[in-house]
Amino acid sequence: MSENHLPTAELQALDAAHHLHPFTDGDELNTKGARIITRAHGVYLTDSDGIEILDGMAGLWCVNIGYGREEMAEVAARQMRQLSFYNTFFQTSHPPAIHLAAKLAEIVPGDLNHVFFNGSGSDSNDTNLRMVRVYWALKGKPEKSVVISRWNGYHGSTMGAASLGGMKGMHKQGGLPIPGIAHINQPDWWSEGGDMTPEEFGLMRARELEEKILEIGEDKVAAFIAEPVQGAGGVIVPPDSYWPEIRRILDKYGILFIADEVICGFGRTGNWFGSQTFDLRPDIMTIAKGLSSGYLPIGGSMVSDEVARVVNSDEFAHGYTYSAHPVAAAVALENLRIMQDEKIVDTVRSDTGPYLKAKWEALAKHPMVGEAKIVGMMASIALTPDKASRAKFAAKEGTVGLICRERCFANNLVMRHVGDRMIISPPLVISRAEIDLLIERARKALDETYEKVQAQGMW
Ligand code: PMP
Repeated sequence: MSENHLPTAELQALDAAHHLHPFTDGDELNTKGARIITRAHGVYLTDSDGIEILDGMAGLWCVNIGYGREEMAEVAARQMRQLSFYNTFFQTSHPPAIHLAAKLAEIVPGDLNHVFFNGSGSDSNDTNLRMVRVYWALKGKPEKSVVISRWNGYHGSTMGAASLGGMKGMHKQGGLPIPGIAHINQPDWWSEGGDMTPEEFGLMRARELEEKILEIGEDKVAAFIAEPVQGAGGVIVPPDSYWPEIRRILDKYGILFIADEVICGFGRTGNWFGSQTFDLRPDIMTIAKGLSSGYLPIGGSMVSDEVARVVNSDEFAHGYTYSAHPVAAAVALENLRIMQDEKIVDTVRSDTGPYLKAKWEALAKHPMVGEAKIVGMMASIALTPDKASRAKFAAKEGTVGLICRERCFANNLVMRHVGDRMIISPPLVISRAEIDLLIERARKALDETYEKVQAQGMW
């Protein structure tokens, strides 16, 4: 035992006895035992046996500035000593909330000059759902209440956010979606594009938005919500034709647009926000994760001047105890200072992003890899037994992806699988040498997966 904690087996036994894990088959996990992560620094995690693992996922797409920054710990401790908690409900405010709100207004695009603070991405999207309905009601159009979103989009795990999301497996549990939400298909050319070119397919999928607006009735649609690049859905980068057509349709019908930037925000796509990378011009932006680089939980809804003007005209009967938590806000502000001072987004855009892109796209030469997609520092590869026909494996979808994830883990690399797509989203501070190591381990894992899949007759 290298550190001051119980031996791994004892920690695993306690974990199995008392801890219910998110998005996990508990019985299955408990027979294997969880890998216990005890510390982290930069892009590396260390487990309870002292093994160092390269984190290709930045935690859950969130640790943009890397782990273990002393300045963050110092700011948190200082803020806890000074004002550990206070609310902003009843005619009060506090400096961390005020400074963070002003800083966000400075860095976000367009006139999204106002922020409603939340505790996470999920409850930010619950805020958005209520806010767009309140907005239209205050404008005398309460019937404009339906929000359109996309199948295989991810917007969180609360009842509202999971309903906005298009994860069918989540909808099956707990009676979702809630009423007033409609879904259209996603722009995933690799899996669903058939014989169309990516551009034709992108246009077709964008036009489903117009069809859905007409089907529901323009006077009943409040908003459209989407991630600039679907993250949890498998890092699905839409064809170039997609976003301009969506924007045209939104403008034509005067529908509010909520860009869910929970993953894409704060540098992930090589700009501060995915909305800049794809010229989305949203009315509302969901932010979380990279806002604090995951050091403390905090989220927000960035809102345009017009939406704020209308929503401010009456009491918005909504809020969370931890809206604008002073310690989380102070830590987020420090995170943004580090990102700006160290020019982290510029480095991703002009140096490490292009460096990773060249290496990532070269993975497409591997016999088992179909398309390799990357924007900034979020990337995916589609595993396939036949690139030309974009075929699926004979085994149940996700079987090969899971094998690959296990081979990555065995090679001390965290890479996630979504079905048979492998995805990465490393800390934005990853260096060129660390990118080399990530790619080397990913290649080894792919080779081992290839061997295993062939040996087990799944090809
Ligand atoms: N929106 C998107 C795009 C996300 O990726 C996530 C989380 N992965 C959420 C919302 C939900 O955020 P949280 O888990 O902080 O509630």
